[in-house]
Formats: sequence, structure tokens, C-alpha cells
Amino acid sequence: MMVLTKKMIEIRSMLQKVGQSSSLTLPSIVVIGSQSSGKSSVLEAIVGHEFLPKGSNMVTRRPIELTLVNTPASKDEYGEFPDLGLRHISDFSSIQRTLTELNMAVSNADCVSDDPIHLTIYSPNVPDLSLIDLPGYIQVVGQNQPLQLKQKISELCDKYIQPPNVILAISAADVDLANSTALRASRRVDPRGERTIGVVTKMDLVDPTRGAAILNDKQYPLRLGYVGVVSKAPSSQGLFKMGPANLMSSIAKHENSYFSSHPLEFGPDAGVNVGTITLRKKLMHVLEQTMSSSLQSTSDAIRQELEEATYEFKVQYNDRPLSAESYLAESLDAFKHSFKQFTVEFGRPQMRELLKSELDQKVLDLLAARYWNKPITDLSQAQVEPDHISDLPKAEASSLYWHRQLDASASALTKLGVGRLATTVVSSSLQDHVDQLLNNSNFATHPFARQAILEAASTILNERFYSTSDQVENCIKPFKFEIDIEEREWAQGRQHVGDVLKKELQDCEAALSGLESSIGGRRKLKEVMNFVDKARKGDIVVEGDGRSGAGGFSAALLAKGREAVFLRDRADIIKMRLMAVKSKQCASVKNKYYCPEVFLDSAASKLASTAVLFINVELLSEFYYNFPRELDLRLGRHLTEEEVERFAKEDPKIRRHLEVIRRKELLELVLEKMDSLKQLEGRERERLTDG
Ligand code: GDP
Repeated sequence: MMVLTKKMIEIRSMLQKVGQSSSLTLPSIVVIGSQSSGKSSVLEAIVGHEFLPKGSNMVTRRPIELTLVNTPASKDEYGEFPDLGLRHISDFSSIQRTLTELNMAVSNADCVSDDPIHLTIYSPNVPDLSLIDLPGYIQVVGQNQPLQLKQKISELCDKYIQPPNVILAISAADVDLANSTALRASRRVDPRGERTIGVVTKMDLVDPTRGAAILNDKQYPLRLGYVGVVSKAPSSQGLFKMGPANLMSSIAKHENSYFSSHPLEFGPDAGVNVGTITLRKKLMHVLEQTMSSSLQSTSDAIRQELEEATYEFKVQYNDRPLSAESYLAESLDAFKHSFKQFTVEFGRPQMRELLKSELDQKVLDLLAARYWNKPITDLSQAQVEPDHISDLPKAEASSLYWHRQLDASASALTKLGVGRLATTVVSSSLQDHVDQLLNNSNFATHPFARQAILEAASTILNERFYSTSDQVENCIKPFKFEIDIEEREWAQGRQHVGDVLKKELQDCEAALSGLESSIGGRRKLKEVMNFVDKARKGDIVVEGDGRSGAGGFSAALLAKGREAVFLRDRADIIKMRLMAVKSKQCASVKNKYYCPEVFLDSAASKLASTAVLFINVELLSEFYYNFPRELDLRLGRHLTEEEVERFAKEDPKIRRHLEVIRRKELLELVLEKMDSLKQLEGRERERLTDG
């Protein structure tokens, strides 16, 4: 039949994908032998290619789990290292190089490692087999090798020669079989010789009669018998001229002619097994049988694994189905939904408020620069100390000075680049909101998707940025020449700027008391402030610039003192201006020259409203329309399966969930295959007994 091994090998590689537990190990043929016993030569003769590491310096340091896959339909011969993602290597010397590198990567100090290398070879010329090559036993520990090396190799081999594995024990004919380390190791774990095949190499090095006697050895009788081989080409003349394929066929020819030239000892009637071809057939047959008899126990082990996975799925994940695609789709839908909700909540009024409060700050700066450094006196005399107001201009509304001041302030306000400012404020607010939505979404734990979404937002916003800010700048142009304020607007502005000033006053006072406590009390602060005041008036001469401290105060303390004086003066002025804004004189737009605060506030409101009108069309609506589409583009259909998988697994919880499901599905599939294999087996057995 010989189909079982192939199927089981397929099953094995499926199980390897889910990280097969040791209970699921399917039988393999484990190759053991002393160094130089001819182990590599035998394996290469079976594969028909030279591909194993060569050299005297312990070149096999890790187990090589070698899977041979017979591909009758194709002429192609190639190897693959699935763990390394190396596929379709047709050059066997390259396989040899990779194996050598992987082995030599184990340090000289360790010398052996039990981490296996997986190699699969596909060829029409190999049988379906699963072989494990192990480091050769050594007799003496060499220089630079760890003392326990002998022990380590032997322990590593012991791990692999356990049932249900078949042991291929390699011994050389020119060494007494009683001294064969391989056979001794095998005898320890398989005393009745039930799952060991003895291979005797280098048959050409002993006299044929002696060779035949070795194969008939009764010291350690093996149910599966001994096979004699010759796996070396005749003495090296002209070998280097041969291609690898020729080398192999020359070895086979040499073996064949050696055995057939001694028909008495090795012929069909001699009762001994010889030749690589015989060995190959035996291996196939034995592995098939072993697979067949371990079918039941393996499928029991798989069933148990499956039960565990099913239980975990139920308990941990409530049987909730999940796939990487469905997870991405759901996450994207939920995110788009939350975005939709946001679009309802964030419109013109919200943008206007944002922009207005940005302009409020600009207005405060303008006022401070153009007015507050020279407060208008007659409205506030009562509040301000005489020495603060001595050199201030008198407030005469009719004075051209005040007209020019207000015109210049209004012009500064309209020309500060409102287009750019407004667009920036709205864009960055949108980006902040997207970021917040992300934080509250599934994507919070997915850097890849997060990045894609933030980029989607900034791409759309950047594309519209310049045209939007130009449009806004254009449409506020009229205000650069004239700002007409109606009484209604004036009243609103008066109310609003009053609030802004109050807030500013509070901020000043809070900062002042912050300074007070950082300095260690009101008295101390007062002392420094007094000193700063006096120094400013010139009552005290401060050496240098006071940077290194003066008047018994450290430089840091003086800096705080100066800050406190600034805050106090600003608070005084704001208090004064608040009174002015509240006074009757500021009740009407007619007195606008007395009340620059109200006028500029009203102007800022006009600017904000106009800007928002255009931003709404040019930026916001565009963004609301395009953003969800851009998300679909970036996270939707065109992602490859691997990308979706990688995305989902970024979240460790999702990753575990997906893995349990995958494991469960795979085990179910494997079990199904095993069941049909068992049925096939059963039918075959019936057929044989019937026939
Ligand atoms: P390993 O260390 O057990 O893998 O042994 P190798 O396969 O590298 O063989 C060790 C040495 O024995 C090499 O020089 C081989 O050419 C040689 N050798 C292997 N098999 C035979 C054989 O059947 N006959 C002869 N004469 N030499 C062999």
C-alpha cells in the first residue's frame, strides 16, 4: 500500500504548524552511529545526493529532522527549510552549506544542541520517509571540546531512540560489532531487537566471508535484521571530475558490482540482506508498518489535544468564533461608526468656538502690546497707584491717537494670517479627535492600523490645507479694510470679552499664588517684589544685571520676583479694564475708541464666523466624506491575508483567541484524515485476509 507513510508525513507537517506537543510525535527512523561509521554516506545514498555537512570537527551538532517526500509527477528535486522560510532550493550544495552554517552556529563550548533543524526534500527518486540524523557518538573527547560531550551526545540520542521510533543503528564492518556504540545504545532501549535495523557499512573493507558472518551475527538478534552496504565510490581516481549525480550513480554501481562479484557470500541464496536499494525498501516497509501500528495511539493523542483545545475555547472564549478578517472588519466598522457619531457632534458651532478662543488669545496679546502698556487713565484713576499712571496719555475719544491705535489693532488682527491659523486649528483638532477615537477603539492595541488611520487623516487634511487657508484668507479680505459692528454684535462682544478678562485675571492670580507657595510664603514674595520694584525705579542700584543674585536674594528668587511683579501689574491693569468694559461708556459701539477690548472681540467673532463658513465647505465636509473611504482603502480588501493576520495578532488577547481556534480546526481536520486512514487500513487488512 505504502500510502500511509505519505499521509502521516503530511499530517506531521500540519501538526508542526500548531506547535505539536510531544504526545503527538509520529514515528520516525532515528539514525545513530559512531563518528566515521559511514552514517552520512548511508543517508546520502538513500537520498541520492550529497547534502550533509562534511568535516572532522563535529559537523553534526543538532538533530536534523529530515522528511523525504516522493513526488512521482515531477522531475524537480529540491529541499526546503520550513522554519527558516527557505523554499525550493534546487542546489544541494547550497543545502549542504546551510546545514553546515546551522550546525556550526552551535558554539564550541556547547558542541551539541537538542534544537532540531527541519529539512524536507522533494524528489521523484526518494521514498516517503521521515528520518532523524543525530550527532555521531565519539570515543574520545577532543581538545577544545567540553568534557561531558560524550555524555551529552549520548543523552541527546537517548531522547530520540524511544518508541515508537525505529532505530537505524550504523556500524562499520571493519570494527568489531561487539564494540559498536550504536548497537549497544539500541540494545539498552530495545533489548528484544524489535524496532532496530542494523546497518553494516564499509562491507568492502573486510573479507567477503567475514562480511557475511557479520550480517549473520547472533549476538544481538534483530527482528528487522541487518543490512550490509557499500556507500563509497571506488578509490578516488577522477572523482573530482564527476558531477554530484554521477558520483551517486557511481557509488551505486560500485556497491552493486561489489556484492554481485561475491555471489557465494551475498547472492540470493546466501540468506543475507545487502545493498542500499534493499535498505531503502526495508525502511519504507518498516516505517509503514510502524505508522500503521501507531495509528490508534496517535489518533488518541490527537483526540485528547483536541478536547483540551475545545475546552479552552469554551471556557476562555465562550465559543465565540473569530477570524483575523472578521476581527479587522468588525473593528473597522466599529471605528467608522464612532467616527460617524463624532461628525454629528463636531460641526460649525464647535469649530467656531475653537477658533474664537484661539483669536481671544491673539486679541489679549494685541491689547497688551498696544494698550495695556499705556492704560487709558481717566477711567481708572481710582484703581491705579499714581506712579503707574504718571506718563500715560489722556483718554480723549476724539483724539486721533486713539483712532489710529484702534485702526492699527484691527488691522493687526485681520492680518495675522487668519486663514492659516483657522485651518491649522481645525485640522489639528480633527487629528486629536481621531486619535481619541482610536484610543477608545480596538485599534488602540494595534500600532500598524493606528498608524494607517492617522496617516489617512493627515493625508486628507494636508491635501486640502493650502486651498482651504487661501479660501479663508480671501473671504476675510473685506474686514481688512473695514469692520462694521452692529449694536447687537457689540453687546455680545462686551459680554464675552468681560468673561475673557475675568478668566485672564483668574489665571494671573492663580499664577501669582503658585509663585507664592513655590517661594515659601507671602512675606518672602512681598520682600522680593519690593526689592524688584525699587530696583526698577532706580531707588537701589543693583550691581551688574542681578543675574547672579542681589540684595540678599538668589538669582532664581529674583527671577521669580520679577515674574510676580509682572503678574501683579497685569492683574491690576485687567481689573481696571474690566471696570472700563462694564462702565456705561462701553455700552455702545459709538464709544468704540474707549473700548478697544469690546471692539476687537466683536471683530474676532466676525472673523471666526466667516472663516468657519468656508472651512466647513472646504475642509470639514470633505474630510467627513473622504475619511471613511480612505480607511476602507487602507485597511480594507487590498490587504493581503498575511497582513490581516499580522494585524490581528498584534493584540495578544486576539492572538491567543485566534490560535486556539486555528489549533482546534487543524486538529479536527487531522483527526478526520486519521479516521479515514484507519478505515482504509481496515479495508486493506480485510482484503488481504479474504485474498
Ligand atoms: P560519519 O562520520 O558516520 O557520517 O561517516 P562518513 O559517512 O562521513 O564516512 C566516514 C569515512 O568513511 C569517509 O571517508 C567515507 O568515505 C568512508 N566510507 C563511508 N562508507 C564507506 C564504505 O562503504 N566503504 C568505504 N571503503 N569507505 C566508506
